[in-house]
Amino acid sequence: MADLNHPFEALADLPGASFAAVRLMILAQAKSSGLTVLEDAQQALTIETPQGVVGLRPGKTCDVAVMVGARDDRALFALKGAVVAQISQVMPDIANTLRWSDDPAQRTLPPNFQFMRATRVEAVGSVFLRVTLAGDDVSAHQDRSIHFRLVLPPKGQEPTWPSVAPNGSIAWPDGEQALHRPVYTARAVDHDNHTIEVDIFVHEGGRVTEWARELEVGDLERSVIGVVGPSGGGLLDADHVLMASDETGFPAVARLLEGLPASATGTLLLEAEHGAACHYPLPAHQGLSVQWLSRARGEHLGEATLSALGAQADASVWFAGERSDAKRVRDRAKELGVPQDRLRVSGFWRAPDEIVAAAE
Ligand SMILES: Cc1cc2nc3c(=O)[nH]c(=O)nc-3n(C[C@H](O)[C@H](O)[C@H](O)COP(=O)(O)OP(=O)(O)OC[C@H]3O[C@@H](n4cnc5c(N)ncnc54)[C@H](O)[C@@H]3O)c2cc1C
Repeated sequence: MADLNHPFEALADLPGASFAAVRLMILAQAKSSGLTVLEDAQQALTIETPQGVVGLRPGKTCDVAVMVGARDDRALFALKGAVVAQISQVMPDIANTLRWSDDPAQRTLPPNFQFMRATRVEAVGSVFLRVTLAGDDVSAHQDRSIHFRLVLPPKGQEPTWPSVAPNGSIAWPDGEQALHRPVYTARAVDHDNHTIEVDIFVHEGGRVTEWARELEVGDLERSVIGVVGPSGGGLLDADHVLMASDETGFPAVARLLEGLPASATGTLLLEAEHGAACHYPLPAHQGLSVQWLSRARGEHLGEATLSALGAQADASVWFAGERSDAKRVRDRAKELGVPQDRLRVSGFWRAPDEIVAAAE
């Protein structure tokens, strides 16, 4: 039965799967993501996530059903998508054919998708463009989940937008109709005026960079885009931190600094092509010592973070950078015994050779 905090609930039988096997899979995922296990009984498993709860219950027609519960239908939809994605990695047939008890309205726009219009573009420092997006309702974009997907239509053709698939996940158009949908951070959310500010790191070859530059010169063909979310983690509540980021994480770092307790202490490592000369505006925090690294001088975020980790294994670690660096930092932090609930290490982008390697 739905609880008061999560009035929206749905269940889906997983025919052919065993309660014990799916329980182990969900517990492993919860552990690696640092999520809290609220209940782990013989017939019921409940995990808390930033979007709501996920768990297992006895199935109606089989051994086990997966359960999601959330405070609104957008969060419920996002949780269903996450569950389907996880199940499809180990049981793709079940993921394709599962059906939710609340019978999602198929072929409509996903509930966590909205159209937004770019209403303003301005340079921020020397390597960012800040785009203001205006929509009908940004109330879901809160401090507990600060990221979202930008959904860019292809240039020069009528876009096909995503829809709800029969298994409750998002059906994305593919082939020539494929939409570019990278993750970005809501640097600021104005709930009165229904706007989100997103700071885009300008880098050569970037499709979002190309879009922002179009807007900057007044080409409004793609001023209406999609936004899916929010998703991902929220602010950091910690006494002692080791934070490290390249440009892609600066907007998130800025939000985390605004929300960090005033009494927190620690280190903030920031990498940019010419270090602090990028002039990205970051809120001051008196408890943190800030160290800028310059790629042009051969300094490297991954290496600096690995060195700092040794001396600060008692800190809450937050890292945003290139994917292979993130992996090295995560592995080292685990070796040093940093517990999962103090570890938020993410690959925010992939170097071109990583993308080629993954495609091969
Ligand atoms: C949780 C999360 C939050 C994020 N928040 C932000 C944000 O607020 N602002 C922001 O600017 N980015 C942010 N990013 C990073 C952003 O999603 C990636 O950089 C993404 O690849 C950008 O897409 P694109 O269209 O610019 O590049 P694509 O068109 O996808 O890629 C084109 C080429 O650019 C390369 N590339 C991608 N990113 C970089 C980079 N940083 N430096 C050098 N080359 C690169 C790729 O390897 C590829 O060869 C975030 C990522 C995550 C996971």
